Amino acid sequence: MAILVCGGAGYIGSHMVKLLLEKGKEVIVIDNLQSGHRIAVDLGAKFFLGDLRDEKFMDIIFSENKIDGIIDFAADSLVGESMINPIKYYENNMMGTTSLLKFMVKYKVKNIVFSSTAATYGEPKNIPILETELTIPTNPYGETKLGVEKLLKWCELAYGIKYTALRYFNVAGAYPTGEIGEDHNPETHLIPIVLQVALGKRENVGIYGTDYNTPDGTCVRDYVHVMDLVDAHMKALERLENGGNSEIYNLGNGEGFSVKDVIESSREVTGHPIPAILSERRAGDPSILVASSEKAKKELGWEPQYTTVKSIIETAWKWHKSNPEGYKK
Ligand code: UDP
Repeated sequence: MAILVCGGAGYIGSHMVKLLLEKGKEVIVIDNLQSGHRIAVDLGAKFFLGDLRDEKFMDIIFSENKIDGIIDFAADSLVGESMINPIKYYENNMMGTTSLLKFMVKYKVKNIVFSSTAATYGEPKNIPILETELTIPTNPYGETKLGVEKLLKWCELAYGIKYTALRYFNVAGAYPTGEIGEDHNPETHLIPIVLQVALGKRENVGIYGTDYNTPDGTCVRDYVHVMDLVDAHMKALERLENGGNSEIYNLGNGEGFSVKDVIESSREVTGHPIPAILSERRAGDPSILVASSEKAKKELGWEPQYTTVKSIIETAWKWHKSNPEGYKK
């Protein structure tokens, strides 16, 4: 009886695999390694290199393994890139999970935890954002994740598949020992970019827009630690296994930090001046995204351990400092 982690070689997926193995679970990973790292799962999981859309490949995995539950991280997840190349996002994100669901139906796998996003909300009217907020995405990334959420709803009705969609806010940080962490190429996320400046790998960080309607004019985001995030997935899967109904939960800390706040905290953590320059807005970025995660706390019993952006940056710094080239040795 194994847990299948799709996209298990990626940043969040690899932290999920590590936690599942620590809890004594049997873990199967599917990853096409378009952005993941094989080394991140040299941890004891059974690894299959391939794509969710490859039906022959999927049939082999489902027929040869007894899969008990699924956690699906496999997706493209960059807001900016999705604005430039929406077809890539529809093809990978929508068709990938659609194919996965086809095999869940065929092999009667009932439970899936799906990696969704705060980008499903677009520009929210109310802060903090509740799960009942209107969902009007401002970018194709959010639109494809919302599309899959809707598909899951119909699959529950038609086939009895139970799902939990977890809408992540801004995931950051690394496994506390610094063994595994975030390594994207090219890197586009704020915290790793800022830490690359501290490491001397970049001269400065560009602040994307200083004319937003926020206290300091820069975008405000809710940062959540990757280990807290994967802990919520574990709890969500257990809830489904115990007969829980299909639900959608926000995962964030409930506190907003501006781009300038993140840079300032990173200066404190690293002791480096981290030069910043003002740049144009990045297309598709909403001004403020801050979660209410009360529903996840109440129904999943989730309690984040890293509640300040500084504590999140500290673990990310530990990883980046000891692995300045990421997984490249
Ligand atoms: N950001 C920035 N400079 C960068 C990278 C990101 O100012 O070099 C901003 C971005 O516009 C957003 C916030 O930092 O407001 C977080 O962006 P990130 O890409 O980390 O996550 P996202 O919000 O896209 O999930």
